[in-house]
Amino acid sequence: MTLTEKILARASGKGHVRAGDNVWVKADILMTHDVCGPGTIGVFKREFGPQAKVWDAGRVVIMPDHYIFTADSKSNRNVDILREFVREQQIRYFYDVIDDPVGHWVFDPSKGMLQRQYGSRYAGVCHTALPQKGHTRPGEILFGTDSHTCMAGAFNEFATGIGNTDAGFVMGTGRLLLKVPETMHFRLEGKLQPGVMAKDVILHIIGEIGFDGATYRAMQFDGPGVSQLSMDDRMTIANMAIEAGGKNGIFEFDAQTKAYVDHRCKLNGTLAEYDPVERDRDEQFVYELVVDMSRLEPVVACHPDPGQRKSAKDLGALRLDRAYIGSCTGGKTSDFLDFARIVRGRKVVIDTFGVPATPEIVHELQSTYWDGQTVWAILVEAGVKLTENAGCAACLGGPVDTFGRMNTPLKCISTTNRNFPGRMGHKESQVFLASPMTVAASAITGRVTDPREFL
Ligand code: SF4
Repeated sequence: MTLTEKILARASGKGHVRAGDNVWVKADILMTHDVCGPGTIGVFKREFGPQAKVWDAGRVVIMPDHYIFTADSKSNRNVDILREFVREQQIRYFYDVIDDPVGHWVFDPSKGMLQRQYGSRYAGVCHTALPQKGHTRPGEILFGTDSHTCMAGAFNEFATGIGNTDAGFVMGTGRLLLKVPETMHFRLEGKLQPGVMAKDVILHIIGEIGFDGATYRAMQFDGPGVSQLSMDDRMTIANMAIEAGGKNGIFEFDAQTKAYVDHRCKLNGTLAEYDPVERDRDEQFVYELVVDMSRLEPVVACHPDPGQRKSAKDLGALRLDRAYIGSCTGGKTSDFLDFARIVRGRKVVIDTFGVPATPEIVHELQSTYWDGQTVWAILVEAGVKLTENAGCAACLGGPVDTFGRMNTPLKCISTTNRNFPGRMGHKESQVFLASPMTVAASAITGRVTDPREFL
């Protein structure tokens, strides 16, 4: 069996499953956020009754993160609905925006967009915060009401996005009926060259198979190249499995996975036991691709979908209006550090927005010093509009007052993961997906630029 099949077999209590089987699996974690949480709660209450209790209050994780730093009252109200539900159900893991358990969330635009407006428990973008808070464990099943839930496959688990109806059912029963996906095999070899990043690996792969090339399939990433990739790198790659239509993305377990997970579970007091899955000799794949990472170069996924791959150096004539660094995929500490290596001592020439994915990343950037200056200060000095209000921000467009949102038909190069029309705001705006280094180099020149020009 493949890694995915092994996890699904275990979670369904079977000795063996194969692609195409329909199996009832037990959930280890159900995650939801402010956009889908209220709808999921509505389905749960409608189907299980107003007095029903969630199947396990220690396994439902609620992370408001999407439409948070906006004066839009309906968006603010969504966070209040989550808080009321958490109180009623005694849910253990709720990463609220405010500290008052009976308060109301109101964003105050008069304080500006840059200064922190959240309390001490707020965790930021769910997919980045889940591992940071010790909720991703090898061998487990993670369901989330968000398509990029697949990011947790970096930790050798089966993680997939589900809709509100399925999530309402999981909330009540802890189980879900799944069709076992076929598995596509991506064997990673070699080592990335300077200026080439994990984002280039996944954009390369999606360019090969197309934005629907993995529809309802598992994408398994393994091979000797994986040891060269940090956990952040693996998260970037697994995150974008869905951009090829994948049901999930999954990496092999190794010493790096163990070190990360053990540290995070201990730090947060979450469940420390887990059982990773290892590769079998008899894996059956529907597709195989060997990626020699040492031969890759910086690429860009052009408007209007993540499969429109072109080499960054061939796009030098493409003028840009805006650059954006942020999101679960591209707003991690390592992403900002690589971005800062390029812009340090230089100035951006187009509007450039920076949104760290989580408050922990804000803290790391504000406490990492290079020659006596924080990385945060280096970015600000280069002209980046950097906010402490960690969250999804303009990655998903959001209400019109969202930080970094494109309210006019601009061209933006972005470290985010999705670029279908209207994704970051105005329906005629265009989004070009690239690595943090490519976005940084392009912000400096105002046109798509291969970051190796600055190394
Ligand atoms: S940062 Fe973007 S891709 Fe990630 S969860 Fe938020 S909206 Fe979705």
